[in-house]
Amino acid sequence: MSAHGMARTDAVLDLIMGHQRLLLDPGGTHGDSCEHCRAAQRDKIDGHVRAGRAIPMLLPAFPAKSPNPDKVLGHLPDLAEELSVAFLEALCVRVGEVYPPGAHLIICSDGRVFNDLVRIPDEHVSAYQRGMSDVLGRLGTAHISLYSLDDVFPGTDPAGMRRKLWADHAPDLEALRDEVRSGGPLLGLYRGITRFLYEDAKIPGFRGSNATLQRESRRRAYEVIGRSQAWGNLLAAIHPDAVRLSIHPQPCGHEKFGIFLQDAGDEDRWLTPWHAVAVEDRGRFRLMKHRAAKDAGGRLVLRGGRPSHYVLAADHSTTSSKG
Ligand SMILES: [Zn+2]
Repeated sequence: MSAHGMARTDAVLDLIMGHQRLLLDPGGTHGDSCEHCRAAQRDKIDGHVRAGRAIPMLLPAFPAKSPNPDKVLGHLPDLAEELSVAFLEALCVRVGEVYPPGAHLIICSDGRVFNDLVRIPDEHVSAYQRGMSDVLGRLGTAHISLYSLDDVFPGTDPAGMRRKLWADHAPDLEALRDEVRSGGPLLGLYRGITRFLYEDAKIPGFRGSNATLQRESRRRAYEVIGRSQAWGNLLAAIHPDAVRLSIHPQPCGHEKFGIFLQDAGDEDRWLTPWHAVAVEDRGRFRLMKHRAAKDAGGRLVLRGGRPSHYVLAADHSTTSSKG
């Protein structure tokens, strides 16, 4: 391979390393130049660069809005998704500047994979997926496409899709439990998902004890992780050469590369567009839980008659909100 080719591979690595969402060891230090993390992605990227084709990247994400009204504005994509998609498109454009064939990001919307476990109706997943397609159309993203279980099994009902996915690609659940129990990297993911399930089930009208809900949330967390892994296995079978991105922080040197979905800092590593609302704060956007945005005195902005985002009061005199 030419030195020039390797330089372009490294320039692509520089760009994605700048947005890495890393699972840090306590007290560990790390930087964009980490050779373990770069080596984990280099061969795949370099294979595409040598062939002179666009670098395919898979990102299982944007499943559906959380069912918790304390977190989100509703079940459809809003400005939170739009800002995130715009960020990802801009990242692909920057890859194209250092490597002209560029990158192509496939957002593998995974709501259909586990929505029944998180109490989201199938119709809301369908509406969210249509809404995401509208977001891509509105932004004119040239480097991003959407893919979902509906594309894998067209004409099958949602429960049937999930059964087929599980039948063909299920991971070993006992091995998964062992990995969590042994305190491996999955433990943090398991805890985070358990917390989501617990919070999102405590919606108005919930009747039942906390202990039952905790137990139920822990059981369902394993199923959510198992289904997500089945989805990952299916994607790997379809796109064996794609760079594997993840919304979850990944350990140093992992085959999957954890990535931020926006330019924000690391205040809440678990906040995503579908668990939060976009808030304009002194001319900058960030994500907050819906209740926190309201409690901070945020003003709701509508677009096309639909709730879009919040503007914090201190902002009124200095910026105008998007109409
Ligand atoms: Zn590293």
